[in-house]
Amino acid sequence: MSNLVQRNLAGSSPRSASASTRHPGSTTGEVVVVGAGIVGACTALQLQRGGARVTLLDPLPPGSETSYGNAGLVSVDSCIPISLPGMVWQVPGWLMDTDGPLAIRPAHLPAAMPWLLKWLWAGRRESVLRASVLLHELHRPALKEYRSLLGEDAFADLIKLTGQLHLWGKNGKPSAADRLVGEIRQRQGIHVTGLDAEALAQRVPALTKDLKQGISFDNHAFCINPQRLAQTLVRRFQEFGGELMHEKVQRIEALDGGRWRLWTNAASREAEQVVVAAGAYSKDLLAPLKVALPLEVERGYHVELPDPGVTLGLPFIDKDRAVAVTPMENGLRFAGTVEFAGLRHPANPQRIDALLKAAKAMFPGIRTNGAKTWLGFRPSTPDSVPIVGPVAGCPGLILACGHGHTGMTGAPMTARLVAHHVLGTPVEVNPQGYRLERFS
Ligand SMILES: Cc1cc2nc3c(=O)[nH]c(=O)nc-3n(C[C@H](O)[C@H](O)[C@H](O)COP(=O)(O)OP(=O)(O)OC[C@H]3O[C@@H](n4cnc5c(N)ncnc54)[C@H](O)[C@@H]3O)c2cc1C
Repeated sequence: MSNLVQRNLAGSSPRSASASTRHPGSTTGEVVVVGAGIVGACTALQLQRGGARVTLLDPLPPGSETSYGNAGLVSVDSCIPISLPGMVWQVPGWLMDTDGPLAIRPAHLPAAMPWLLKWLWAGRRESVLRASVLLHELHRPALKEYRSLLGEDAFADLIKLTGQLHLWGKNGKPSAADRLVGEIRQRQGIHVTGLDAEALAQRVPALTKDLKQGISFDNHAFCINPQRLAQTLVRRFQEFGGELMHEKVQRIEALDGGRWRLWTNAASREAEQVVVAAGAYSKDLLAPLKVALPLEVERGYHVELPDPGVTLGLPFIDKDRAVAVTPMENGLRFAGTVEFAGLRHPANPQRIDALLKAAKAMFPGIRTNGAKTWLGFRPSTPDSVPIVGPVAGCPGLILACGHGHTGMTGAPMTARLVAHHVLGTPVEVNPQGYRLERFS
């Protein structure tokens, strides 16, 4: 255990900490976290609480990017990567359906192709089994970790322990992917309760009868306002003495002696350790350092209806349409779709339209007036497992990105992993499995 951590456990002020020479798992306390999305927010707070002196950099208010508009699901038993055996055969059908769950902007296809091929390769059985263990270890402790980071009152205010449903209408022969999902749940001791049409009508009375069956994850939860969650975490980080600066990092430079310099739009900052938690922007930020991240942007959308005329007691995912429906504090949110079109192309109105159609199909007669729409950028890896940990050959540079579809669930345990690498604090999961080197 580093001197710094020992001092903190003994109750001294984090700001009084200092360390002399650096060795694995020690720090002088000067850590810069780049990005105040949900991953950066959890990480900055965890490190500050652990005794590091942390500066958090983001040009935007906390939780303003992808962590703003997600579906808010805290899915502690989610562990199924997106790429599964046989999925390649479903892709043409999805692409032909303009209201379907997948879209690719043709001009973006050449840029996305290397990642898409890696993604398909990650759908092999052995790769899926490996990823599922890593995902479950990251997700399972999410509620306990959020409770610890937020404190009891803020946790109860923001996170609702209602469970979640997965629903579908079509009845078909189970595919190879379905069988593997069942096997994984069995191996990992994940309990789900089956729901027939009658049980479903009781749980979600306003729902279309086209969704005939489902399963219930009773220990899942959801957040009623993901941006407020990130902001609450950052406020707590500041109360612990952490510094939030509204600056955009333009360049990261390795200095002699293992230190780092960050050139921002407003300053030049030196740091002992740098944590890159810039979501989908992490790839471009690290490219000049020759750190190649296998990240692709999976664009997702939401439509939020402030006055839907529908009451929902718990969130659900319509698995046929791949749309999550969540009763947020400001309205009923329909979130989903995957679009490959990069970071810069404007929002695609057809995707929004597809979500509105889905909302009307799920809840006939739903009121869509005043709908608010949003586009976000999932930072996705081919195997759906985020990239967390130091970069070989770049001491002091720690990655915390690539959380794809489940970053709100994976963020608090990611913070624990980063604290392990930065401060040497113990962590219950195998930290090696999340490192960038698994792709080499
Ligand atoms: C439609 C949709 C639904 C989703 N639903 C769920 C869900 O229900 N449950 C779940 O667990 N996950 C969900 N996700 C995934 C989840 O939202 C993401 O994985 C997560 O928000 C990623 O968080 P992040 O902190 O890595 O990235 P972001 O939230 O994107 O944060 C990155 C931050 O870095 C900052 N930044 C970028 N560049 C720089 C720079 N140069 N200098 C300084 N700062 C910089 C940005 O301003 C931003 O604030 C969903 C995603 C989408 C799109």
